[in-house]
Amino acid sequence: MHEYQHVIEGRSVAPAAGRYMDSVNPFTGEPWCRIPLGDGTDVDRAVDAAKRAFDDSDWSRLTASARGRILMTLADLIEANADRLAAIETRDNGKLIAEMSAQLRYIPSWYRYFGGLADKIEGGVLPIDKPDMAAFRTYEPLGVIAAITPWNSPLLLAAYKIAPALAAGNTVVLKPSEHTSASSIEFALLALEAGVPPGVLNVVTGLGSEVGRRLVEHPDVAKVSFTGGTETGRAIYTAAAGGMKKVALELGGKSPNIVFEDAEPDAAVRGAISGIFAATGQTCIAGSRLLVQRSIHDDFVRRLVDFARTARIGDPSDRETQVGPVTTKDQYEKILSYIQIAKDEGATTVLGGGPAERGGWFVEPTIFTDVDNGMRIAREEVFGPVLSVIPFDTEEDAVRIANDTRFGLAAGVWTQDMKRAFRMTRRLRAGTVWVNTYRAVSYMAPFGGYKDSGIGRENGQQTILEYLQPKSVWFNLSDDVPNPFVIR
Ligand code: NDP
Repeated sequence: MHEYQHVIEGRSVAPAAGRYMDSVNPFTGEPWCRIPLGDGTDVDRAVDAAKRAFDDSDWSRLTASARGRILMTLADLIEANADRLAAIETRDNGKLIAEMSAQLRYIPSWYRYFGGLADKIEGGVLPIDKPDMAAFRTYEPLGVIAAITPWNSPLLLAAYKIAPALAAGNTVVLKPSEHTSASSIEFALLALEAGVPPGVLNVVTGLGSEVGRRLVEHPDVAKVSFTGGTETGRAIYTAAAGGMKKVALELGGKSPNIVFEDAEPDAAVRGAISGIFAATGQTCIAGSRLLVQRSIHDDFVRRLVDFARTARIGDPSDRETQVGPVTTKDQYEKILSYIQIAKDEGATTVLGGGPAERGGWFVEPTIFTDVDNGMRIAREEVFGPVLSVIPFDTEEDAVRIANDTRFGLAAGVWTQDMKRAFRMTRRLRAGTVWVNTYRAVSYMAPFGGYKDSGIGRENGQQTILEYLQPKSVWFNLSDDVPNPFVIR
């Protein structure tokens, strides 16, 4: 079984304590590789390396165009290795090879986009209102960035952070999920091959409670960029406050996918399916609350169930498979416990409702009707293939139910009335609203949440500014002797 190592200062480094852990294939339930079970010593080594690379190497002082070119080379290398990386991710997290291949083909765009943006960040001469002064604004990188990523889309979510962070001239320590670390280690080795200097991108693996926590608390980390669960995000926010660190938190959701009576039914059914059963529901943007206008409710649910029933469940490495296993045993048990909670709360099971007997950690695509938005199944993030259908009467009603959640990551609207669609996009309290589509993301489109879904935005041009800080520089042009007791 292959034994991976941390990547620190450009080298593969064994964990200081010599401990490793198995990484398990969720389809077979069997270990397929070993990753370092790191500790605080490993984190300290990685942060020291990243700090030295920031302070002493040429990375942050390299011209922005040169940094951009290296990121473009990295994009080419990811592209050349896309099939291999996709296969590793599928083996580690059980997501469909079709989905991971599509992600890997798209990920190079992040490095090209932010690589291209690197030399387009311009400061400016300020039209300062003091005749004897000149002033300008410039931007500087922050320093060492801690990037902490979850298991559902390891390299895509890492790209959201690493591409802008490196383009801006920062250095990075990446801690991937203990369940899916292999692809991040492989990626760091590709970055070295692309010419990213030693120490600029380091990977330390291990448990969140040990490696993640130490990374967040490390005094030399300037910013923590995290994607994962809301409760972990809250703990990281609190810990980061002690060191006055900047944070970006991309957290959970309970997103409404809203179907009006005039929606094109086939498209809306497919949109609802893609919202909840793609990636076996293990996405932060899952459209886990399906709000359906009462006048079409029964017919729509019938169509939905008929379609979902045909989903091919099975081996994620088979390109014909549509629903794979869930990633971890804990997640499997959590999803089944939520299914039981929904049943106990009085929801009606119209599809699935239990484990799917396929060997690994499989849960049947499950649809509940008779769900009230106050039930736990409608309020808490399940992170699995479990859909709650909630009827509504009017547009006003739909907005009220959709916004009645502590989350605000995404929302979908299905209607052929574009005036109504536009009104809805204004009124829905979510960081992303899709009209007649669902689950579209791009490096160009800001992504992040309202309320408990997070802080800050990833993707889009402005994101690079989140990895920079402005500095004002003043020149005195006058020979006058100023009064030192009065502000100038
Ligand atoms: P976590 O939020 O626990 O994990 C995300 C990352 O944070 C992992 O790398 C994890 O390490 C790390 N981590 C955990 N605790 C700490 C800590 N105290 N300090 C620093 N880093 C830490 O997600 P889980 O994997 O446990 O999933 C729990 C729930 O989170 C899911 O059921 C789902 O609701 C939600 N989630 C949301 C995601 C999203 O995309 N928004 C993605 C994944 C999960 P490690 O796992 O290695 O211990």
